[in-house]
Amino acid sequence: MSLEVQHVSKTFGNYQALRDVNLKIEDGELITLLGPSGSGKTTLLRIMAGLEEPDRNPETKILFHGFDVATQGVGERQVGFVFQHYALFRHMSVLENVSFGLKVRPRAERPSNSEIRERAMKLLKLVQLDGFAGRYPVQLSGGQRQRVALARALAIEPKVLLLDEPFGALDAKVRQGLRDWLRRLHDEIHVTTVLVTHDQEEALEVADRVVVMNKATVEQVGSPEQVFHHPSSEFVMDFLGRTNVFHARIANGQAWLNDMPLEMPVGMTSKAHAAHIYVRPHELDIERHANGQPALPASVTRINPAGAIAKIGLLGSDGADIQVDLPLERFESLRLIVGETVYVSPKKMRVFAPEPEYAI
Ligand code: ADP
Ligand code: MG
Repeated sequence: MSLEVQHVSKTFGNYQALRDVNLKIEDGELITLLGPSGSGKTTLLRIMAGLEEPDRNPETKILFHGFDVATQGVGERQVGFVFQHYALFRHMSVLENVSFGLKVRPRAERPSNSEIRERAMKLLKLVQLDGFAGRYPVQLSGGQRQRVALARALAIEPKVLLLDEPFGALDAKVRQGLRDWLRRLHDEIHVTTVLVTHDQEEALEVADRVVVMNKATVEQVGSPEQVFHHPSSEFVMDFLGRTNVFHARIANGQAWLNDMPLEMPVGMTSKAHAAHIYVRPHELDIERHANGQPALPASVTRINPAGAIAKIGLLGSDGADIQVDLPLERFESLRLIVGETVYVSPKKMRVFAPEPEYAI
């Protein structure tokens, strides 16, 4: 089932939580809505579900499989929901929780008790909890409870699955496990899924496509690879990972970073006076000696090799903090010492014209 929103805005009092949002999710896709707290993710999800009404506007449409569901309530839309805080029924066993959505159906649509049981047991198997049918929520770990919540959401055979930070309250290791598990589950059942998260790693790892939200609007939609490597704005670049920002000067049609001449960024006019250069830590290399290539002198302030890469902190000669991630072999061959001066050279950089408020 495809899911499309067109021209969706939402105001609460005089606060605009969504501004003319347009988005199409293909049948069977797993989309993540990624953005900082307050960017409008939950509001958009609730509007998709029918829990919240968008502002009235003749252009606004919410289409399930091409049909406008604007007048349908949450029950009619057949959406499965999972929220951050597990809302399992505490007085019901795991099996009863998963069966609930089917048991409360009107008699004419309700499967027989044995069918309900069979379907619930099948779902528990799918979420790898078939040995836990008789337990109560209090007897489960956080991760297990979220898997029960997911089985319960799937029991009604939803057309779309909407997940609002379902793993947000769990610790990092459990979250990672559930994330991998959700991706595998989705590959098995292919239900159109929208996962809200503010965690960029989660969004990039799980999604077919990532929708980056900022300040009530969609900033960029693309594959994880596209949004990470080809961000369309400074916001996306900054939100999707650690970055170094350098301030470049533009003079006589040439961009300069300190004394280092740079290629003029695409789309920038020579009338601009400044540009922001973004480089991710792994896109910088460190050289012990100036070798004629563009490089910034900097002194080493921190060395942390505890991980898959070595994290090096430096202080640029212009006073800027610089973060460099080096492959461990490279780090070991350099034998860096805190306090020494080295040369930092970008292997790749992205240049953005500064927003007017930054312009020099
Ligand atoms: P996110 O999920 O991205 O953190 P939300 O969609 O929850 O963001 O909220 C977006 C903005 O709308 C926030 O500033 C929030 O305070 C506001 N907001 C959300 N729901 C309501 C509401 N029912 N009444 C008033 N303001 C709301
Ligand atoms: Mg939210």
